[in-house]
Amino acid sequence: MLGTGSSDGWPNPWCAKPCCTALVEAGIVRTQTSALIDRVLLVDPGAEAPRQAMRQNISLAGVRYVLVSHVHPDHLDPAFLMYRSWVTTEPLTVVGPKPVIDACKQWVQGPGVEFVTITAGRDVVLGPYRVRALPAAHEAHGEACLYAIAGPDATVLWGTDTGPWAPGVRQMLAGTTLDLVLLEETFGDTADTTGGHHNLATFATAVSQLREWGCAGPSTDIVAIHLSHHNPPPEHLYLRLRDIGARAVPDGTPIVAGGVRTSLIL
Ligand SMILES: [Zn+2]
Ligand SMILES: [Zn+2]
Repeated sequence: MLGTGSSDGWPNPWCAKPCCTALVEAGIVRTQTSALIDRVLLVDPGAEAPRQAMRQNISLAGVRYVLVSHVHPDHLDPAFLMYRSWVTTEPLTVVGPKPVIDACKQWVQGPGVEFVTITAGRDVVLGPYRVRALPAAHEAHGEACLYAIAGPDATVLWGTDTGPWAPGVRQMLAGTTLDLVLLEETFGDTADTTGGHHNLATFATAVSQLREWGCAGPSTDIVAIHLSHHNPPPEHLYLRLRDIGARAVPDGTPIVAGGVRTSLIL
């Protein structure tokens, strides 16, 4: 996980309440949610993603696929395509719904970048990964997608940003066994989930639905991401998530998903 925070991060740098000032004093920072899978598949390249990788001593030079959920700036800063074009023409495939691809195209200079416009219900194959786009319940400018990503070692659900499962998700996940669920839980104990986000209550319901559907089992690792200052203090949040059978991890935490890996990418 490159970042695990909401768009404003947690702490929100402008917040004067203990939910944020206590974390500022403790030096605990959650930046915008982004992930790097096997060092080749970058998911949701928000503005902070390149530096998140740098601070974790991880080069992005090996990235060949970029998967984008929606066009909100915490999930996509397309300028990375220009910065990359200054140093390499190695092939790169960028996948996202139409507003994402439209936003990206103007930033490409030179050869090497391929765009794939995807919509909920469609699959795309990216090297060793089969990716299925699912509908997100989220108010974006145009379509927002979630992704089920089946790789050589594990199947991962990228579940941000979204509120309670949109119609069709259950059917599109039928028969899928998830090793890792990365599901947003933006709003903590706040009742207002305006815009299409989870709070702790709706997160718990969404997790139990995955279990009812047979998509998540005892060995499924469920990690809450996109966390904001509306959440309880970290030590309480970890206990609340434990009660749901989930956890949260700090920014920069490596997560090993699935079975024993035959080869580690170092
Ligand atoms: Zn977001
Ligand atoms: Zn969003």
